[in-house]
Amino acid sequence: MASMLQPQIILLKEGTDTAQGKGQLISNINACTAVADAVRTTLGPRGMDKLVHDEKGNTTISNDGATIMNLLDIVHPGAKILADIARSQDSEVGDGTTTVVLLAAEFLKEAKPFVEDGVHPHNLIRSYRTASTMALKKIEELAVSIEGKSLEEKKQLLSKCAATTLSSKLIGGEKEFFASMVVDAVIAIGNDDRLNLIGIKKVPGGTMRDSFLVKGVAFKKTFSYAGFEQQPKKFLSPKILLLNIELELKSEKENAEIRLSDPLQYQSIVDAEWNIIYDKLDKCVKSGAKIVLSRLAIGDLATQYFADKDIFCAGRVAEEDLKRVAAATGAAVQTTVNNIIDEVLGSCEVFEERQVGNERFNIFSGCPSGQTATIVLRGGADQFIEEAERSLHDAIMIVRRALKNSTVVPGGGAIDMEISKYLRQHARTIAGKSQLFINAYAKALEVIPRQLCDNAGFDATDVLNKLRQKHASGEGPNYGVDINTGGIADSFANFVWEPAVVKINAINAATEAACLILSVDETVKNPKSESAQGEAAASAMAGRGGPAMRGRGGRGMRRR
Ligand code: ADP
Ligand code: MG
Repeated sequence: MASMLQPQIILLKEGTDTAQGKGQLISNINACTAVADAVRTTLGPRGMDKLVHDEKGNTTISNDGATIMNLLDIVHPGAKILADIARSQDSEVGDGTTTVVLLAAEFLKEAKPFVEDGVHPHNLIRSYRTASTMALKKIEELAVSIEGKSLEEKKQLLSKCAATTLSSKLIGGEKEFFASMVVDAVIAIGNDDRLNLIGIKKVPGGTMRDSFLVKGVAFKKTFSYAGFEQQPKKFLSPKILLLNIELELKSEKENAEIRLSDPLQYQSIVDAEWNIIYDKLDKCVKSGAKIVLSRLAIGDLATQYFADKDIFCAGRVAEEDLKRVAAATGAAVQTTVNNIIDEVLGSCEVFEERQVGNERFNIFSGCPSGQTATIVLRGGADQFIEEAERSLHDAIMIVRRALKNSTVVPGGGAIDMEISKYLRQHARTIAGKSQLFINAYAKALEVIPRQLCDNAGFDATDVLNKLRQKHASGEGPNYGVDINTGGIADSFANFVWEPAVVKINAINAATEAACLILSVDETVKNPKSESAQGEAAASAMAGRGGPAMRGRGGRGMRRR
């Protein structure tokens, strides 16, 4: 047996690449810093936007951290974690995506010198976790509740929160206009959790100010057949029938195989087909509905038939639109026209087909359940409207969060400075190394006000010194960066408010990500994944066709 033992133990396949130890950790930290640098300049009301275009020629202009991180298509395994936390922040709270990336990268950056000096990462991680727990507790303490206010007051407070979110966006110039629209929309849907009850429809053309809110459902006119023009386009308190069946002649023909022995029988078959469809249409008409919508096609015969009876119809309505009409009008979608009782019909105060820009829109307003709202967005370029939609999404999420958790904190870096001060004070009471680490964590929090200043072209050192002094003296716990003057100001008084949950979630996620990256000291790349990557890289190079690129490809190029 002994003779079979090999002197050398082969653990991994030949060609496996491992990088480990301090060097690997530092390289991960550097990668994260590089990623954060890509979104750094987008933070805050004076932040810049990024234009990202991919090889397919799609261009996106965005200020949203999560969107940019997604488009960047990061391949570095360590840095990918930052893209993940941005995404999770986006789905959890909807705003603060740039913040979370910046914080995570800054926590790592502050940890770097310690790692270089040989501090064991676990000591850092432990202190970071303690600091984060303390910070979160402090935020909960400092948060101001908006509970118990009247609806009018609440609306005003919420629109301040929405305005703060929107102020960093492309549509920031019209933030009051959109903020009140968003608040109305969110309040309209009430306590319902389904975000898709708020629809956003984009219609290029016009100006931002032409955007409007429908308290109900609106969707673009669907494809329609001849006869449509003769249908009435406006109804008061109509009954609404929603269907999930085809109202077309051809559908009968294709469902059966028919053998005829006598040519005369053919006519009877044709008649039968017509009878079936007329029977269906008759039943729709008899139901008393004035508006008939179907998810499937409504053919020309049906369109003309309905027009003769002064009924409006639309086929091929998108499923989500149909669902929203159902939710708003109280109708139930039918899969047969037999036995249509009154209860399955919906109703609304006004139905109208209206021209919006170049498009015709079907608009249902004054719906009984009131639980839907649609924002029709107008504006110039496509990219602009797309970004406006993303910004409204952020604002909608923020208002919903604020409504639910009903606590807010001062923005503009005020809360970050206050927490930073609190942690520094605490650090002084600790003996031992963790004093340094908690101090590092506290310093990292200052990245938010610093970046806000940098992006606005202010002297960051100067403003930060003023802020530190103000917070340390205890007179101005709500002081943050004043984006208008380049000095400092009370963020609460200026109505720069953010829901507390944005900060809580950001600090939590950023700390977790930083700790995760600090706890990794080895990356193993197995030969298989390497060659897959290598080939992908090689074909990408070939696609660009540049011999000039050769030799720069590094590892991936060896195989060519
Ligand atoms: P994120 O993707 O993290 O939400 P934003 O670009 O939306 O990034 O910037 C948010 C930051 O900008 C927050 O820290 C917020 O407090 C700050 N901010 C927003 N409006 C103002 C303002 N009017 N004055 C100062 N700071 C502001
Ligand atoms: Mg934001």
